[in-house]
Amino acid sequence: MAAEARIIDGKAAAAALRAEIASEVSGIKAARGLVPGLHVVLVGEDPASRVYVASKEKQAVEVGMNSVAHRLPPETSEAELLAKVAQLNADDSVDGILVQLPLPAHIDADRIIDAIDPAKDVDGFHLSNVGKLAAGRAALVPCTPLGSMILLRQTLGSLAGLEAVVIGRSAIVGKPMAQLLLQADCTVTLAHSRTRDLPAVVRRADIVIAAVGRPRMVKGDWIKPGATVIDVGINRLPDGKLAGDVDFAEAVKVAGAITPVPGGVGPMTIACLLKNTLTAFHARRG
Ligand code: NAD
Repeated sequence: MAAEARIIDGKAAAAALRAEIASEVSGIKAARGLVPGLHVVLVGEDPASRVYVASKEKQAVEVGMNSVAHRLPPETSEAELLAKVAQLNADDSVDGILVQLPLPAHIDADRIIDAIDPAKDVDGFHLSNVGKLAAGRAALVPCTPLGSMILLRQTLGSLAGLEAVVIGRSAIVGKPMAQLLLQADCTVTLAHSRTRDLPAVVRRADIVIAAVGRPRMVKGDWIKPGATVIDVGINRLPDGKLAGDVDFAEAVKVAGAITPVPGGVGPMTIACLLKNTLTAFHARRG
């Protein structure tokens, strides 16, 4: 009977990344008197979004950044939000701008994302950054795939030549994840809701990335023995507990390494937002 998979500790990896960022931020302050600034804009009262924004604000403060949350009322118009984005674009002390999604239905999210200065787009959603990533050029990369890549590299070292299967083709996770794996010289399959025989596709994978939003969909017998499994899914169960997209209890018996939910990819996402803010600071202010 093979040993159980190594559990990839995303909480510890995120804490280590935040410590590195904090030390870099204090170095920048000491040497140049500058403080990297992250501005998060929230429109409305969505409870999950309020929690995410509070946590982004708090963690940016903890690493020593100038952290500002702009909380706008639900009736904020698209024109008002565009004006707020324009004001942040023009402010030299602002390094990162993140507009929390989803936005209220009366605001066109694409129009807002298109208006953010690509050099300050720390979510990596602006078409300019999406295009640069696809072209293999330096870009601000979406935080969840970036965090997943850091965990993969820490677990496996070089990824060159490995078979990677990404399940889910969203613009936020699946597609940028596939691009990053391709850049890391993996052979990449991007699977989705219309993929035929998903279990057979997943069985080929040395690396499985699950980003679907369906609790415990990926079963243990889909996993190739020894594979590395990154579970991006965060699903609330009827009993209030969280579950990933992977059936952890089954997969942990087959995989070589696996991320838990919670405590895997989730904590890396905000740490990577802070990392992107530093990247944006360096690219813009030298
Ligand atoms: P999404 O709904 O935009 O995309 C889901 C994708 O899954 C789609 O591309 C769809 O084709 C695919 N899909 C749906 N049903 C499928 C099936 N039966 N078989 C194969 N593929 C199927 O979701 P998203 O925004 O990419 O998020 C995915 C999950 O990741 C969610 O649970 C979300 O909560 C979570 N998430 C976590 C973080 C984090 O910080 N850890 C960040 C973003 C998203």
